[in-house]
Amino acid sequence: MVKVVKFGGSSLASAEQFKKVGNIIHADDSRRYVVPSAPGKRFSDDTKVTDMLYKCYAEAEAGKNFDKQLKAIKERYNEIIKGLGLKLSLDEQFETIKKKFSALAGKDYAASRGEYLNGIIMANYLGYEFVDAATVICFDKDGEFDAEKTNQVMAERLAATESAVIPGFYGAMPNGAVKTFSRGGSDVTGSIVARALKADVYENWTDVSGFLAADPRIVENPQPITVITYKELRELSYMGASVLHESAIFPVRKEGIPINIRNTNAPEDKGTMIVETTCSIPDCTITGIAGKKGFVSISIDKDMMNSEIGFGRKVLQVFEDNGISFEHMPSGIDTMTVFVHQDEFVEKEQKVLAELHRVVKPDVLELESDLALIAVVGRGMKNRSGIVGKIFTALADAKVNVKMIDQGSSELNIIIGVRNKYFNDAVKAIYAAFVPGDC
Ligand code: ASP
Repeated sequence: MVKVVKFGGSSLASAEQFKKVGNIIHADDSRRYVVPSAPGKRFSDDTKVTDMLYKCYAEAEAGKNFDKQLKAIKERYNEIIKGLGLKLSLDEQFETIKKKFSALAGKDYAASRGEYLNGIIMANYLGYEFVDAATVICFDKDGEFDAEKTNQVMAERLAATESAVIPGFYGAMPNGAVKTFSRGGSDVTGSIVARALKADVYENWTDVSGFLAADPRIVENPQPITVITYKELRELSYMGASVLHESAIFPVRKEGIPINIRNTNAPEDKGTMIVETTCSIPDCTITGIAGKKGFVSISIDKDMMNSEIGFGRKVLQVFEDNGISFEHMPSGIDTMTVFVHQDEFVEKEQKVLAELHRVVKPDVLELESDLALIAVVGRGMKNRSGIVGKIFTALADAKVNVKMIDQGSSELNIIIGVRNKYFNDAVKAIYAAFVPGDC
């Protein structure tokens, strides 16, 4: 059995955290491939090493002296090395980093050093081989991640190792220049390594015991989600539930490898298992609720809209031409409403309205801002009646007016639009209707 284990920044923020990680790895022989992040925050107003690196490099770019910043970064690592009792010096690496910063090697190079140095420490601590991600994670000349080439190169390289540490977050372009994924990208590296090894499971260790059925800032003590499908996760993550990087599911999905979200500070918790498909249905029908505030609805009324072929296309073309993506578009016979992100829309508002007038000649155009969308997600909803009834009853009892409802034929999720100010009440009411009463 092969497990790829990725540890996030908070799991590696100090020597104490490193020791917990060591214990986790030693507790299971199959945890042979390790993907570390850079050291994260040790306490709430601490600074992540990645942010320190970006700041330090900005000084270099501005032609200022960055010795002090670089020294502070080196101290973070030396503290870990000392706390672990290792005989390891990063002097040479820091000399190189200093030279490369002075030569303006790039922001991505700068940020990647957080993972690179942590990987060296981790490999030394575990006695595992260090594999520089720049040699196995390939980006093309335009800086796009090259999945197939990476898979081949990585699989070949790792076939030659029993156990290895591969730093997260970065790789290299064909000319050798370092390139990073977007923030939180070590999750993606872990998934790529798991795919190349055809691992049995990709364990993603963080500081929470997996996904929760609702945001704990809104619902008190929400239930943990034990099993979730990739599709459900996409729906919930898109609507704000963030534990894992958005792109992290794609590589493992190709090989049907499950992801297990685990808590470094509570390794006995089973966490959340993210799977392709499962016959296990949550007891309480729904898997989770997530939502976001800050949407605008643009309602377009026109008599006989139903008989005007191409009406919808023309409306959406206006949004496309203005670079605005639409979220939902419920429609009636003579009405159509488009939901968009308020921050994407505000600046272009008048231009969009003028173009809509020109293109589809509506009778009435109405805007409503400060709306929230809530996604009620669950594979257990399929072929079950009464779900929408239950949601509406709960919202009516909580005196929340529903502005919009949208359910796709997949029956995987129901989207509900409410005013921003009712957002928390709505989430609480829906949660209470399904969990735990129904469980
Ligand atoms: N260290 C990087 C960040 O802070 C990448 C990661 O942690 O996944 O975004």
